[in-house]
Amino acid sequence: MQKEDVGSRKLNIKGIVILPIVVLLLIVSFFVFRSHIPNMNPLQYGSNRPKLEYSNYIPKQIGEKVDKSDVAIELEIFPSNYTEVVESNKFNISQKNRVQLLRYGQTVVEDGSEEDTFKNAISKLSTSKTPILLTNQIVSLYYKGVMQRFKLNVIENNLQKELLEELNNRKLKEIRDTVNECKSLLVEDKYEECIDLLRQKDIQPSNNLQRIDALNSYIGINSFLTDSKGEDVLEKVSNLLSENDTEVVKKTDVSIQNDDNSSIESQVYSDVDLVLLEELINSTEYLIKNLSDQNIDIADIAELGKQLTYIKEYTEKQNAGEDNDVLGIKGILSVLDYNPENPKFLLKSIKVKDQNILTVSPYIEEKTLVPEVLDSNFDEAYDYPRSAFVRGRIRLPILMYHHIDTTSSTNKFVAGLYVSPLEFEKQVAYLTKKNYKTVNIPEFNTILSSGKNPEQKTVMITFDDGLKSHYTQAYPILKKYGQTGVFFVISNRSYIAHQQLKEMANNGMGIESHSKTHPDLTKVSTEELSAEIVGSKSVLESITGKSVTGIAYPGCVADDRAFPIVQGGGYVAGFSCGRSIDISTSSKFMIPRVHIDNGLDGFIKILSVGGS
Ligand SMILES: [Zn+2]
Repeated sequence: MQKEDVGSRKLNIKGIVILPIVVLLLIVSFFVFRSHIPNMNPLQYGSNRPKLEYSNYIPKQIGEKVDKSDVAIELEIFPSNYTEVVESNKFNISQKNRVQLLRYGQTVVEDGSEEDTFKNAISKLSTSKTPILLTNQIVSLYYKGVMQRFKLNVIENNLQKELLEELNNRKLKEIRDTVNECKSLLVEDKYEECIDLLRQKDIQPSNNLQRIDALNSYIGINSFLTDSKGEDVLEKVSNLLSENDTEVVKKTDVSIQNDDNSSIESQVYSDVDLVLLEELINSTEYLIKNLSDQNIDIADIAELGKQLTYIKEYTEKQNAGEDNDVLGIKGILSVLDYNPENPKFLLKSIKVKDQNILTVSPYIEEKTLVPEVLDSNFDEAYDYPRSAFVRGRIRLPILMYHHIDTTSSTNKFVAGLYVSPLEFEKQVAYLTKKNYKTVNIPEFNTILSSGKNPEQKTVMITFDDGLKSHYTQAYPILKKYGQTGVFFVISNRSYIAHQQLKEMANNGMGIESHSKTHPDLTKVSTEELSAEIVGSKSVLESITGKSVTGIAYPGCVADDRAFPIVQGGGYVAGFSCGRSIDISTSSKFMIPRVHIDNGLDGFIKILSVGGS
């Protein structure tokens, strides 16, 4: 009993002594806390100040300007640095990539090395001195990354101010706990939960929070309040960016520091839309104007504005063909970091000073920029109306070339045997752009044996006489465009070294027979005929290690004596000359090939109607 009395009295005394101490501590901690907040005035706007409301800033015509189809440029041939870029980066180029690049001036290739980050991709391109393309998407990610971080700062800053306001009439600990809990929710982007929590504790979002919300919406990030007024601005800003940017931006790490720009050795080209840049610059100016005297650190926003302005000037200068200083633009490339799930590169041709240059951008967008390429295109539109088909024949133009070189000869016949490398490249590029398949002898034989037109537009490209330019000019161009050629070589008089013939065969080219010594096959003895036809086959097979199943007759002539030897000697097809692009399925040893000379118009006509 006594003990209890003593105990309760002690408790009362304790309460009387401790309570004022707790209150005192609360007051002291309030002032200590206050002293760490440089400006405790909540956001207040005088009547002479512009209000921080989204309606003060309405982006103009955003979303309409950036039309992907506008930027598609059809190419006549690949940009001059194509091979260099593809080989030095070891890009895995598919035939569809080539078709897209020619049709739309751009294509997207997978990155062979997985787990690549944006920074690694830039460094890979830089090491190989590949021209880097700065795209709308990269700039948008940069912008959003800076804004995202800025948003968090603004919210935190202003929540502290809210706290100070509430401290005047509420218990410190409860407010502090609630606000801390709310802040940790915000870090997880749980804005609504935070607001609900504040409401539960009767901490109503004030006008200030609504202003902050308008700001958040304005910068294109999650609305702070559920009934945000800023939604249409959010939509407009989102239109600037790709659909998956919100996801991407979460994985994007942005910090502004320009110290390692110099490590980027590549030239950088800007493909950024000037309207987009202007809108983004306006937005930074708007924020700076409205926030600079609100004790919010705007250094990052100011730096962002500076960078965007630099890119705008850089783009304008580049578009005007003026020389540019690349150093500033590299700042953006050195601060972005992103870890994509499927690393890809955008290859895009851009025109600089009337020259097509292949540029490369680490590609983040998931949706496809360019239309798919379909292989079953046999009945797709032809540039020159195609002629009617002939019964019993299949449509498969066989093109015949001799020299792929320039000539100074004025002799009409001699000059007719020359197609310049540039003209040849244009013809091969045309075939590639139209997604023609080029076949070798076995593939040709399969189609012919089927007796039906192929599903994909198909040609066979052939070369006679095994000339030096076939190795030095034709072969690299065919390889570059992913096409194959059939080279009819005079086995005992090849102008191409045996090692080179082997190399060509190993890289998908067909090395076939053009006889042993190039005689008129109608004028040699039967023994010589056999040696020319069968002998040449075994010589070439021993050089390339691959079987020879096609022969082109010297001067395009052969007679009834030759055909049984050709067939009996293991050939599946014998080639002559002619005008037709329709091949008889029953006459495999007198197959017409159409002579090709310089010029694309005549070439296109031949593909539709044959020679004239
Ligand atoms: Zn010949």
